[in-house]
Amino acid sequence: MEDIYEKYQVKQVINASGKMTILGGSRVSEDICQQMNIGASHFFEVKDLLDKTGNYLAALIGVESAYIVNSASGAIAQSVAACVSRGKLQYILDIYNPENKKREVIICKGHNVDYGTPIEVTIGMGGGHVVEAGYANKCTLEHIEAKINENTVALIYVKSHHCVQKGMPDMKAFIELGHRYHLPVIVDAAAEEDLKVYDNLGADAVVYSGTKAFEGPTSGLLIGKKVFIDQVKKQSQGIGRVMKVGKENILGLTYAIEKYLSKEHLTLQQQSQRLEIFNQKLNANDGISARIIQDGAGRLIMRSEITFDEKKLSKNALQIAQALKEGELHIYTRDYRANEGKIEIDIRDVNDQELNMIYEKIVKIIGGRKDE
Ligand SMILES: *Cc1c(COP(=O)(O)O)cnc(C)c1O
Repeated sequence: MEDIYEKYQVKQVINASGKMTILGGSRVSEDICQQMNIGASHFFEVKDLLDKTGNYLAALIGVESAYIVNSASGAIAQSVAACVSRGKLQYILDIYNPENKKREVIICKGHNVDYGTPIEVTIGMGGGHVVEAGYANKCTLEHIEAKINENTVALIYVKSHHCVQKGMPDMKAFIELGHRYHLPVIVDAAAEEDLKVYDNLGADAVVYSGTKAFEGPTSGLLIGKKVFIDQVKKQSQGIGRVMKVGKENILGLTYAIEKYLSKEHLTLQQQSQRLEIFNQKLNANDGISARIIQDGAGRLIMRSEITFDEKKLSKNALQIAQALKEGELHIYTRDYRANEGKIEIDIRDVNDQELNMIYEKIVKIIGGRKDE
C-alpha cells in the first residue's frame, strides 16, 4: 500500500486521547470498511436508504425511530431546525427569518460547553437562540422554568464529560419538565455508549456521534420519537443539505452499530489488565505516579492517570503533554487536567506496540529512566 504519511507529508499520530474529532475519531475496522466500500460503489435512492437503514436500526435498538446524519453536530442543528420551523415549509426554507420569533432553546449554563465548537454555534446553525438557565455550578428545575416563555421551542440536555457534573438537574426530571410545557427535549449524548437509557427516559431525540463509542465512520445518529424525527428528516430540504451524509457512511454506521450491539465489550477489569503493566513501568520512575481510573463522567472506560512531580522532573504535565505531541511521532494524550499535573492515557485506539512507544517517549522527555 502506498504510504500516505510519506506521500502527503502528514504527521504520524498515536491517539491515546480517546475519540478525538481533531484526530479523526475512531479507527474503523476492516469489516466496517467493507460495508463502506459497498456503499461507495453502488447507487441507492438516498432517501430510501436513510429510511430503511433507520427502520433497521430502530428495530435493532428498540426505539420508535432512528435516522443517520453526517455528525452529532448535524443532528443537533437539524433537531433545533425542526423545532424552529415547526413543520412550516416556509421556515424550513428560510430558517433564520427574523419574523419567526419562536426560536429560544433553553440549556443549563453548566451544559453550554465547547466540544471543539461551542454548542451555541451548532444550535445557532439550526436557527436556535440559546437561553442559559441557572449558573455555572448550579441549575435547578425552577431556574429552567423561569426561562420558559412563548418563544421557547426546545430544551437541550447535554450528557457529557465536558459538562459541569455537579449541581445539574436530573435528566428524567428535566425531560418531564419540558413535556409539562409541551416542549420537545433533545439530549446530546454524542460520546455516550448507551443507546437505550436516554430514549427510555422519554427524550424526543437523542443525538450520538457515529465515530465515538460506536467506532463507525464520520457520521451521527439520531434516535427518538417518530413524530419528531420525521420533522428532522424534512430539514434535508433546508439546512440539512449542507450537512448531508454519504451513502458509504450510511452503510458503515449501520453496520458499526449492529456490531456494537452484538459484540462483547472489554470489561473494566480487562481494560485495567492492559494498563497495569504500562503503569508498573511508569511507576518505576522517580517523580511519576500512575494509577488506573474510570472515566470521569462514569462511562465504562478505564484509563491510566499519570501524575508528574514537577519538582523532581523539572518539567510539568503541560510541558510533557506538549512534548509528546512534537517530533517524529505525535502522541496525543488526554490533557484536560494537565494544569493539575495529570494526563490520562486512553488505550481504546492504542495497540500494545504503540503503548510501549508512549512509555519510551515519556522516559525520553523526562531525560531518561529515573530509577526509584
Ligand atoms: C463530540 C461531541 C459532539 C459533536 O460530535 P460530532 O459527531 O463530532 O459532530 C457534540 N456534543 C458533544 C457533547 C460531544 O462530545
